[in-house]
Amino acid sequence: SCGICVEKCPFDAIEIINLPTELEDDPVHRYGENAFALYGLPVPESGKVTGILGPNGIGKTTAVRALAGEITPNLGTYDEEPSWEAVLDRFRGTELQTYIERVQAGDVTIARKPQYVDQLPKQFDGTTIELLESTDERGALDDYIDRLGIRPVVDQPLDTLSGGELQRVALAATLARDRDFYFLDEISPYLDIGQRVTAARLIRELAEEEDRAVLAVEHDLAILDLLADTLHVAYGEPGAFGVITDPKSVRNGINEYLTGYLSNENMRIRPEEIEFHEHAPRETSKATPLVEYPELSKSYGEGEFSLDVESGTIYESEVLGVVGPNGIGKSTLAKLFTGALEPDEGDLDFRLDISYKPQYIEIDQPMRVDAFLSSITDDFGTSYWKTEVANPLQLERIMERNLDDLSGGERQRVAIAACLSEDADLYVMDEPSAHLDVEQRVQATSAIRRYAENHDETVLVIDHDIYMIDLLADRLMVFDGEPSEYGHAATPQEMRAGMNDFLSDLDITFRRDERTRRPRINKPESQLDRKQKKQGEYYYAP
Ligand code: ADP
Ligand code: ADP
Repeated sequence: SCGICVEKCPFDAIEIINLPTELEDDPVHRYGENAFALYGLPVPESGKVTGILGPNGIGKTTAVRALAGEITPNLGTYDEEPSWEAVLDRFRGTELQTYIERVQAGDVTIARKPQYVDQLPKQFDGTTIELLESTDERGALDDYIDRLGIRPVVDQPLDTLSGGELQRVALAATLARDRDFYFLDEISPYLDIGQRVTAARLIRELAEEEDRAVLAVEHDLAILDLLADTLHVAYGEPGAFGVITDPKSVRNGINEYLTGYLSNENMRIRPEEIEFHEHAPRETSKATPLVEYPELSKSYGEGEFSLDVESGTIYESEVLGVVGPNGIGKSTLAKLFTGALEPDEGDLDFRLDISYKPQYIEIDQPMRVDAFLSSITDDFGTSYWKTEVANPLQLERIMERNLDDLSGGERQRVAIAACLSEDADLYVMDEPSAHLDVEQRVQATSAIRRYAENHDETVLVIDHDIYMIDLLADRLMVFDGEPSEYGHAATPQEMRAGMNDFLSDLDITFRRDERTRRPRINKPESQLDRKQKKQGEYYYAP
């Protein structure tokens, strides 16, 4: 052990090249003896969106509280009264000096969007518009309501809104404020890709056109890439210490993060690289169909939502990605497969036993994680179950906690484990990426893939994180239509054809980063964007 980590060394699989030099200095803030310590601070800049990329529990909120003037950083001397004088001395001559002078003078105002929007209805008792109107400090609210598509729900009580609606309301409520500094802790959970891109555009406009400083934490890398001007990578050991690097270009920051090596810092943060395959489409064995289904249709009564499904085949032991906007009929199709709903047209001669992980996870029972999981599977506690399910989902540390005091990301990992632990014909996961940090997304992806491969299980993954879908899926099922009105489900296709269908609908093209081959969203109307659209290659560009 190098003496820094209080628990297990996160790097035990690899040789430690060196300690980050920051750790030889005093931290910016330490909560107490043997308590969490934060090294480094992000630099908010007017007119710019500054991104932070890194795991949860690494000190991002602590950093923001310092930058908002809510706590005075103690520079590691937690037993003395901290002072802004000392903080200023520490940062004199750095990019933070002017900013800290303003914080010290009490001259920085902040607006923030919390990470867990599901909590909002507990904090505010009223209708959506009552909440929103109280935030309209710049006269921009109406525009946000329209562009974020929340007009239809403004008169509804907040506690009747879906997660995706709450996320957009929270974003509008934050951006509508008239403040110097905006902190957005994740914008993408529960939003579909179109909504994520719109949210990123609105945030960029606020920074650029109104000359505000925006700091954003985001774990959907395609969106972070679009959103930020500069990027701080955060690393360390969640709960023990966190280091926030100096700013990097967004491209470099994400690339270094993916390769697992921060070059300026000479720091390895992960033993292996995360790789994207340019011509991804893995050959599916296609040996045995799990189910072949005919054309189907289903509507929820006169003038309500209706869904049309093209006939198709789902193969055994494939991971089928499912993409499409919210409210387009994805869960309706899952219910048709289980027999919970009867189709209006088309006959299903099978009833699939589906293990389903819903998008919004409600497991608020006062029950311990280990008790909950062992009630689902007899395999609980076996070395096989630990290797395949518990370890990749990092469940060890939370086994003894109660379900009702888990964070969003912890709850998500328990729900994924519970879904995989059931006996079923088909595993359906709705937005497994929600509230997972990037590192956890990578681990959950490999847990789900390994599970499908090693056990010949079939998995259907609905997600809006295009990197996660790319890394997970063998084939793709694309939904389109008009959310809440009608939906159309295409037959499952190869990745290339599926991505082209899906992205042409959204009018978004991706290019490949030269170094890591990761997909990056093209600027609309750029040369590449126009060229790829002409060629009809929206994702796997030549
Ligand atoms: P993040 O926003 O990156 O998830 P936080 O800044 O919220 O991380 O927390 C980083 C660590 O500091 C966590 O382990 C948290 O438990 C700890 N921490 C936060 N606030 C306090 C506090 N007031 N006293 C002691 N520890 C704290
Ligand atoms: P997705 O899973 O793609 O988000 P859903 O299949 O859950 O979409 O829902 C599609 C549409 O059908 C939504 O507008 C939803 O409000 C509506 N809907 C879902 N269930 C019912 C129901 N039991 N009665 C009436 N409308 C419903």
